[in-house]
Amino acid sequence: MNSNYLTYLHYINLTLTSQYLQNELKQIPSPKKTQKYNQKTQIRFVVMVEFNSFTAQNISNEMNIHEYQGKAILKSFGVRIQEGIVADNVEQAVEAAKKLKEDFGSDWVVVKAQIHAGGRGKGGGVKLAKNLDDVKEKAGAILGMQLVTPQTGPEGKLVSKVLVAQDVYYPGATETKEFYMSVLLDRAAGRNIIMYSTEGGMDIEEVAEHTPHLIFKEEIDPKVGLQGFQARKIAFNLGLSGDAFKDMVKFVAALYKAYDATDSAMFEINPVLKTSDNKILAVDAKVNLDDNALFRHPDFAALRDTAEEDPMEVEASLSNLNYVKLDGNVGCMVNGAGLAMATMDIIKIAGGEPANFLDVGGTANAQTVKAAFNIILKDPNVKAILINIFGGIVRCDRVAQGVIDAYKEIGDIPVPIIVRLQGTNAVEAKTLLDESGLKVKSAILLKEAADRVKEVFAA
Ligand code: GDP
Ligand code: MN
Repeated sequence: MNSNYLTYLHYINLTLTSQYLQNELKQIPSPKKTQKYNQKTQIRFVVMVEFNSFTAQNISNEMNIHEYQGKAILKSFGVRIQEGIVADNVEQAVEAAKKLKEDFGSDWVVVKAQIHAGGRGKGGGVKLAKNLDDVKEKAGAILGMQLVTPQTGPEGKLVSKVLVAQDVYYPGATETKEFYMSVLLDRAAGRNIIMYSTEGGMDIEEVAEHTPHLIFKEEIDPKVGLQGFQARKIAFNLGLSGDAFKDMVKFVAALYKAYDATDSAMFEINPVLKTSDNKILAVDAKVNLDDNALFRHPDFAALRDTAEEDPMEVEASLSNLNYVKLDGNVGCMVNGAGLAMATMDIIKIAGGEPANFLDVGGTANAQTVKAAFNIILKDPNVKAILINIFGGIVRCDRVAQGVIDAYKEIGDIPVPIIVRLQGTNAVEAKTLLDESGLKVKSAILLKEAADRVKEVFAA
């Protein structure tokens, strides 16, 4: 169920091609990996922080959507899904169950919590209901609960919607069978791949960890797209024959088409189910849309659910700041992702832990600096702030003035601030800061900045 973990591991293996980093990765115990994963969707980035790696790759933001939204997208491309209706309250849930009975003859339904995290089944967020009273009870219990799953962290997530879905595990001529399938970009190969396994369902992460040979991969040539023989190979490797084989071929083709046409970053369907009457359908749908391609799909903007995102990250994105919250104690404000990575390494070397990743982008004026201060200062763990800005196009003295203005506007900032400005007019900038009378420690060289951070921790 909490199977994005599988994709996650794969992701890392694809991204970190260096032997050193791969060995390092093996030494991190699994709970920590999962915890890091849970924390953020920016998987590659977090992993690189973990390794003090300077090889910053593009930090992609992936937009997560709910299962019911993902399924609607799949369906629109002809992918067969477990049908369902979303509900905000118990009355709507009961109406949904009635409608599913009318439309599909479903006597039983499943009530599924809609949160942006997997492993819901394990956390008690997916429940079978056998009649309308049962629907009332199960929906009542799940709606409003703080659902804790292996992917939410201990605080869990508030459930404000449920998907009432037809029960697709009904008995029949053959056994039902759960498979795993995902579509994603293999960065090393520069191609999309379909990953799949006969061992889908609840414990896919165990499969990934202990029996990785049970996970197959099919690489897709971008020039010709998914070929018929590839879809047939997948159906064959999944052990299917007859109608189920044919249906799987169609399923895979439609799934790949949906992934490609939506410019998605990742699809993960776990489980893909073979029903007792040999139909293939998506029981679950984790769909990550690629932020960078959203402008090509204006409709998708409406799918964003900011209630599911970190409030500080939402606020940051409104100010066009690229912010990711981390667990440490030194807040960072930097321009450029690569310099941000290097800054976080410096903080670690100086004995601190980065409290965040924050890229202010190209324009570090008083307004952006102020927005960045406000966001960093909301984190109670922050014991110091390191501003590290390279003035290439933006002049250092302008940035220094921005820092001073923002500082004065905010008033007293309770933690020490270390400002390192290098580049055009660096000396003028240092003078401005030193003469400002504010509690700001200035530096030009990165080493000096690191020493200032050390002093804070030594004090
Ligand atoms: P996840 O736990 O967040 O991955 O949520 P899923 O949508 O994958 O559902 C979790 C589990 O609930 C599945 O692996 C199935 O075992 C079970 N489940 C889902 N739909 C049905 C259904 O229609 N009938 C029954 N009996 N079980 C279901
Ligand atoms: Mn699932």
